[in-house]
Amino acid sequence: MNVNDARRDHLKALPRVDQVLVLLESTAEAEALSRQVLVDACRFAVDVLRKRILEAAAGTFERPTLETAQNIALDRLRALKAPGLRRVVNATGIILHTNLGRAPLCEEALQAIIAVSRGYSNLEFNLHEGKRGLRYDHVRELLSMLTGAEESIVVNNNAAAVLLVLNTLSAGKEAVVSRGELIEIGGEFRIPEVMEKSGARLREVGTTNRTRIADYEEAVDSEKTGLILKVHTSNFRTIGFTEEVPAPVLVELGRRRGVPVMHDLGSGCLADLGIGDEPTVQDAVQWGSDVITFSGDKLLGGPQAGIILGRRGVVETIRKNPLNRALRIDKLTLAALEATLRHYLLATNVTERIPALRAMTESVDSVRNRAENLLGRLDEAVGDNFSFILMDGASLSGGGALPTREIPTVLVAVTARNLTAQALERSLRDSDPPVIARIADDQVLLDSRTLHNSDADDIVAAFRRVATAGPA
Ligand SMILES: *Cc1c(COP(=O)(O)O)cnc(C)c1O
Repeated sequence: MNVNDARRDHLKALPRVDQVLVLLESTAEAEALSRQVLVDACRFAVDVLRKRILEAAAGTFERPTLETAQNIALDRLRALKAPGLRRVVNATGIILHTNLGRAPLCEEALQAIIAVSRGYSNLEFNLHEGKRGLRYDHVRELLSMLTGAEESIVVNNNAAAVLLVLNTLSAGKEAVVSRGELIEIGGEFRIPEVMEKSGARLREVGTTNRTRIADYEEAVDSEKTGLILKVHTSNFRTIGFTEEVPAPVLVELGRRRGVPVMHDLGSGCLADLGIGDEPTVQDAVQWGSDVITFSGDKLLGGPQAGIILGRRGVVETIRKNPLNRALRIDKLTLAALEATLRHYLLATNVTERIPALRAMTESVDSVRNRAENLLGRLDEAVGDNFSFILMDGASLSGGGALPTREIPTVLVAVTARNLTAQALERSLRDSDPPVIARIADDQVLLDSRTLHNSDADDIVAAFRRVATAGPA
């Protein structure tokens, strides 16, 4: 038989969709699923088999069986049922890992989300007066008490906050900003591009490494200037021959010329963590800018949100900008943010209560204990297949905060007897839940600082799977 005959022969032997369906319907996996979904899965399976025959090289034809088709359809159903967005174990040592969802939420924030979203809520309803309220009212007082700011609103994220403030105060006018602060955050957020979208005209002053007050004085004009913008250079540092103008000096200039000053802080650090030179929000409020913006899910340790603080009149104007309607915060976020902020106000041990702060400030001894415990369990479970040693290392804050600050940590360094570090890293990532690790010097490193005690079970299970199954 020649190749084409063989191919035709196999194509003829393809099971029919209705045949696969009968089999599939008898499985537990198919229970309570709509007929449409089952038929689609069967069609998918038959298509896969057909494609395999069409693409197979001569002599490698595999006779399509009903059983193979059923298995493909079953896998398809399992894949459809499994959530795509799911929990992972963060063994990277980057505490506010943007790709891994930044800050884990505190318990009370999770409870608040459930309580508010299962049914109805007073999101925009003033219970006291029995009439319409503002969603911002749920965090206004908390934010004022915590930061000393007169007024606040919150939006979807800090990029939205920056866009909204620029659009409100500087559309059609110049926003004056230092060349040393035209930063990019996370590849998509660039200050000059956001500025352009806001309708503000960028007026750069100074140079990359040095900007003086005289540079601002020359550029700021009560007619042409809408805003003086100061941006915290969150994710990098300029060192050496540098000079930047402190916020209070810009505020003084703004007052003199009648031009508002905005300070984009990036990371909203509300507690003194004693681990770096990140300005706190309270400091920034003291410095007197008219508007301050920062993220909810960086050093604040709450949900993704953008917080706008400032003088009452200015914040009111920002709130009433129609663009705000498109950027507004949703109720789940608001519930989580309120619960997180309440800890800052009420808890004596806020760094214990908020997971990101706990990870940032946990003593290296405590981190080492967890690493030792993990190593012991891994050795016992899969010590024949891997070698594990403890190493001192450095974790990072991430989230564009404290870029030069290495936080001491303890790593479990892994080498596999018959797998490359790359293959092991991939297999761990392919586990359920996925374990995300990093590679250095041909070793897979598990950073104990970003792990929870409860992650050990999942990590051991992932290694067991790799040991028995080999590379993914
Ligand atoms: C992170 C950051 C942003 C963007 O904040 P998101 O909450 O990620 O939208 C804007 N400005 C600065 C200075 C930042 O550090």
